[in-house]
Amino acid sequence: MKNFHNICLFLACLLMGGGELLAQKSCGTRLDSATYAVMRQEVLDMMKNKRLFSDCEDPYYDCPDDDYLIPVVFHVVQDQSDAFNFPISDAMLEMLIVDLNRIFAGTHPKQTSLDPDFAPLFAGNTGIRFVKAAVDPDGNPHSGIERRATDKAGFRNDHYGPLSPPDVALSPVNSELIIKYEANGGLDAWPRKEFFNIWIGDIYDHESGGGLPASSYATFPQWDLIRPQLSGIVLNMRDFSYPTHLVSMMAAHETGHWLGLIHTFWQNCVTGCAYTSGDLCEDTPTDESGHWTCSSSYCGHKNMNENIMDYSDCRKMFTLEQLKRMKCQMSSYRSTFVLGRSCVGIISSVKFTPEVSTVPVCFGESRSLAVAAHAGYSYEWDVSPAVAVFTVSSPIGNSITLTNISPTYKGEVTVRVRMGLLNPIGTIAPCGTGGWFEHKLWFGGVTNNPVISSMAISTIPNRWSICPTEQSTIFSAAVPGYPTALLPSLTYTWTVTGGGTIHSGAGTDEIVVVWPAPTYTIGTWGTVKVEINNECGGIKSDTDLWARMSCEGPGSGGRMASLSPNPASGQVVVSLKDEIVISPNGLQITVRNSEGAVKLSQISSARQTTLDLSSLQHGFYVVTIQNGEESEDLRLVVE
Ligand SMILES: [Zn+2]
Repeated sequence: MKNFHNICLFLACLLMGGGELLAQKSCGTRLDSATYAVMRQEVLDMMKNKRLFSDCEDPYYDCPDDDYLIPVVFHVVQDQSDAFNFPISDAMLEMLIVDLNRIFAGTHPKQTSLDPDFAPLFAGNTGIRFVKAAVDPDGNPHSGIERRATDKAGFRNDHYGPLSPPDVALSPVNSELIIKYEANGGLDAWPRKEFFNIWIGDIYDHESGGGLPASSYATFPQWDLIRPQLSGIVLNMRDFSYPTHLVSMMAAHETGHWLGLIHTFWQNCVTGCAYTSGDLCEDTPTDESGHWTCSSSYCGHKNMNENIMDYSDCRKMFTLEQLKRMKCQMSSYRSTFVLGRSCVGIISSVKFTPEVSTVPVCFGESRSLAVAAHAGYSYEWDVSPAVAVFTVSSPIGNSITLTNISPTYKGEVTVRVRMGLLNPIGTIAPCGTGGWFEHKLWFGGVTNNPVISSMAISTIPNRWSICPTEQSTIFSAAVPGYPTALLPSLTYTWTVTGGGTIHSGAGTDEIVVVWPAPTYTIGTWGTVKVEINNECGGIKSDTDLWARMSCEGPGSGGRMASLSPNPASGQVVVSLKDEIVISPNGLQITVRNSEGAVKLSQISSARQTTLDLSSLQHGFYVVTIQNGEESEDLRLVVE
């Protein structure tokens, strides 16, 4: 190891012109013998399941060839006073995701020129993709990048100390030294079944006891069961000063471990069945150790220096067998990341903009809806019923514009969207409950719908005649079945004939009509009409509401009494008709509001009684005069 440090120092001077102390471009991931035994047994079990003719046949055939979409959370821990505090910008992390996806898609520029001897083994598109987490573990929107300014100068590799079973499960002493605990000055992992944790910080060498930079490292899938809170990879902050493609290949190497790959040089020049020895991959030649050189021969054959699970600066490819190993282990340990299975960590809910549509979409009009854009996604939209044509924004596709093409349809239109990873994986893989996220719009036509089905005179059911001496009457209109959210968008135009005038409420769903008493003739008819507009054009009441003038005549008042003034404010005088004889118990005068609640009550033996209205709110009231066995209701408007 000391020799590696010297090489590293030498490289650092070449690359940085001196000064900075870079980490090794090797790897600090340590595979213990117990974990290796588990991995090997997994391969043997697959061979047994297949009942192969030979005990060294390709055992991977049965592993599901799923695509994977893996939400990534970056935990960036930096000590502001650290001399090696290499700045890690958001843009660098965005680029890292882009590059990881290019490497795993087989489209990274470096992958266009492969060693012709090994090019046929190139895995190409692995079907594994990474996306920055868009929500935190609680489902709240998040950038996918956590940052902490720590007062800790640096951290050690998880695997500090002797590594043999059960050392994979860290001792408490070592856990205090690693970056994966908030209590230690680092940052806690996010749930390993939902997120791929990538820590970035200053990692010290675990054997020199500090001072010298250490390599990046990873955990294997099998360790998720032992210490799930450690699952992920740790990248040394200092390595980010290397050229971008080297940083990306180094991250791909550690990610390869996290996906279950072993160094190609594991067990050195081991011989025997290539499926069950070395790195458990048949198509990666054995190697005596990790190398930085880009062309060499070891163990009696040409070295595959371009394999990402080697150390060289020209590493850039996974092989077909490595891809099978990754898929087999992901299906066993991390099936929650299968593309489209849950999309936890990416999308927990979708909010449409605008969130609530309170205005109907009229014939010929257009309406746009948008959902949050997620990089790398494509969007599939669905609209029903088919009373709209729509266009989807391009190239992102996170918004839709609908045009109402139906002059007659009035009702809900359901707009749905689901999301999936953009090509090259291909098909849309839905996220979220049932795949679809729904939004409702209201489409309104242009004529006679919805129907105004009822109106009421005052609050007395089935009362269609009006006595002019009542002086005022309340009319209200309703549109049953119309969406509550859209009611505020309705406007009301009232027309009153027969001499009445609208005293208040014009333009609303309820008006007070005042009847100037002297102008009426008994038995005449007045009408009240209302036209309701919903922004898609007028909608008229089916029939005019009519009211018959049926009292004894102008100025005669009620049968027993009259109210003056009406409408009233402050006070009103109840006047008894001359012919009425007050009962020995006096008059019981009660004022109720439109809900029937008693608001005033008093007993009087006078022919004129003044009621104090100062405690009453504006509105409609019923004044009941009870005289012995007889009673009469008079309507009163308080303003
Ligand atoms: Zn490694």
